[in-house]
Amino acid sequence: MSRYCVAPWLFTSLILVCHSGCYLLDSIIAASNFNHMHNYINTSNFDQDYCERKKKLSTLNGWRLSTHKFTATLPIDFIQEIYIREVRGSVFSVVYPTPFKSRVLLVAVSKDVLEDILDLDVTVSATEDFLQFVSGTKIILGSLPLAHRYGGHQFGSWAGQLGDGRAHLIGVHTNRFGDTWELQLKGSGRTPYSRNGDGRAVLHSSVREFLGSEAMHYLGIPTSRAASLVVSDDDVWRDRFYNGNIKQERGAVVLRVAKSWFRIGSLEILAHSGEVDLLRMLLDLVIEEHFPSITLNDSDRYLAFFSRVVSETANLIALWMSVGFAHGVCNTDNFSLLSITIDYGPFGFMESYDPDFVPNTSDDEKRYKIGNQANVGMFNMNKLLEALNPVLDARQKQLASQILEEFPEQYYKCFTGLFKAKLGLLGNSEDDDYLIAFLLKLMEDTEADFTMTFRHLSEISQDQLKDLSIPQEFWALQDIAKHRFFSNWVAMYLSRLKKNTGDSDSERRRRMTSINPRYVLRNWMAESAAQKAERNDFSEVRLVQQVLQQPFQLQTVAERAGYAQRPPAWARAIKVSCSS
Ligand code: AMP
Ligand code: MG
Repeated sequence: MSRYCVAPWLFTSLILVCHSGCYLLDSIIAASNFNHMHNYINTSNFDQDYCERKKKLSTLNGWRLSTHKFTATLPIDFIQEIYIREVRGSVFSVVYPTPFKSRVLLVAVSKDVLEDILDLDVTVSATEDFLQFVSGTKIILGSLPLAHRYGGHQFGSWAGQLGDGRAHLIGVHTNRFGDTWELQLKGSGRTPYSRNGDGRAVLHSSVREFLGSEAMHYLGIPTSRAASLVVSDDDVWRDRFYNGNIKQERGAVVLRVAKSWFRIGSLEILAHSGEVDLLRMLLDLVIEEHFPSITLNDSDRYLAFFSRVVSETANLIALWMSVGFAHGVCNTDNFSLLSITIDYGPFGFMESYDPDFVPNTSDDEKRYKIGNQANVGMFNMNKLLEALNPVLDARQKQLASQILEEFPEQYYKCFTGLFKAKLGLLGNSEDDDYLIAFLLKLMEDTEADFTMTFRHLSEISQDQLKDLSIPQEFWALQDIAKHRFFSNWVAMYLSRLKKNTGDSDSERRRRMTSINPRYVLRNWMAESAAQKAERNDFSEVRLVQQVLQQPFQLQTVAERAGYAQRPPAWARAIKVSCSS
């Protein structure tokens, strides 16, 4: 096969915008564990043993939340009446959640989020207080609920004021490690930012957000977390597929947790409305709280901040690509300033490899197809830069443009490092890019399953590969092996593996199985769990949640459920839209 056949594809379908001058990552650890490294830095001053011993609370009495850090430092819109309005001069509006009228059931909780992040013993979730708290009825003393004012570019165009239309920031918790986490209810009622919406979220999309965000965390991808999911009997009406078929669904609330919920749109709205002092104030707060390596009295601090967001967003999108994750709605209001994955809507994990994979059936133009996420990331960084323009001088603007241009290179560097690791390659070899692109091209041609191709390559021995004797259980490899150039790729791969110094085949397999998941949240798994939940059977939500906590570990229960098998035929008919 001529080299020419693959190379152009590498640049078009994968949006690998830059090629020359990129350095490969030294190790996968550097690329995939920004989050964990950040936690480590934050906790290093604390006595871990002491912290672990410190008792977790099994009631909400004595548990503390506060929104003081915002109310004390930023101007707040204190009109508590809930009516839709254009807010000026404030970053938050005080607004209480609207309790459900009907009974509320607990669908699922994340033990790890409760215990490791929120200092609560999981047994607290059995209490009535907890149920009231996570459904928005009980407000923890000392905390004033807030809705955030932000704007955003949606599908490429400026959309004006958006804001938390159905979310309430119900408090900030400083935990025993000294980390602060912001707690947000989603689906908890109307706010000044609800526009035409009802302030609610339905169970189906809430199950997806709960499972999706937790799954991403255990894949090692920076993300918001989900602490709990409740469902009510309150009616919520939705035209799920925008075809005039309005159906009655049930209101649900996810308690989401993140280090910060600020987005690109948080800054954009202030720049667009000329509130430059407030823009500076918010930027300084974000930098002080979340970018400790940037000094606040440095006149280039906004430039340094921009540089960090550009490189970490490039890394985040490369990480998404490494697990076949398509966010679905990469608008600037859904892109975090901390470069974590937020706002899970019509996202999807790609099954058959396809750079044109679009998880959101309402995205007719395929703007947010998986192969376009890096380009869209660049677009969003450009919008971030436009929002920063009012606080940059001419020299800084010029430097910022140069920083922006580094986005493709950073993305490409991280992407290559991650895919090399996925293939078990050590060190550098000239043809590594080609080897990766060649494989992806074969996968595209044969519609091979993205997750399982890499997983099977992690499990199969080099001897089996050499003989091209692929056992039946490696079904994704059997698919790709039908390609007439598969044997060429295998020969190239095996010869490259020989260049791994100090490696053995078992070590390679150990390394690869620890980063190539066997289980991801396939659409049909989320769909099946959500459908059962709609009938008040929450067992499958909990099963999927449990399995995805160890996505790299072979699990009997997951095998029995078919989570590492070909998706069932009915999965092809599943549609996921923006309606939620
Ligand atoms: P999303 O597509 O979920 O990121 O939401 C985009 C914007 O629409 C945000 O400002 C949301 O708060 C708002 N929004 C979405 N659904 C609703 C709803 N049911 N009620 C009120 N606001 C909503
Ligand atoms: Mg959003």
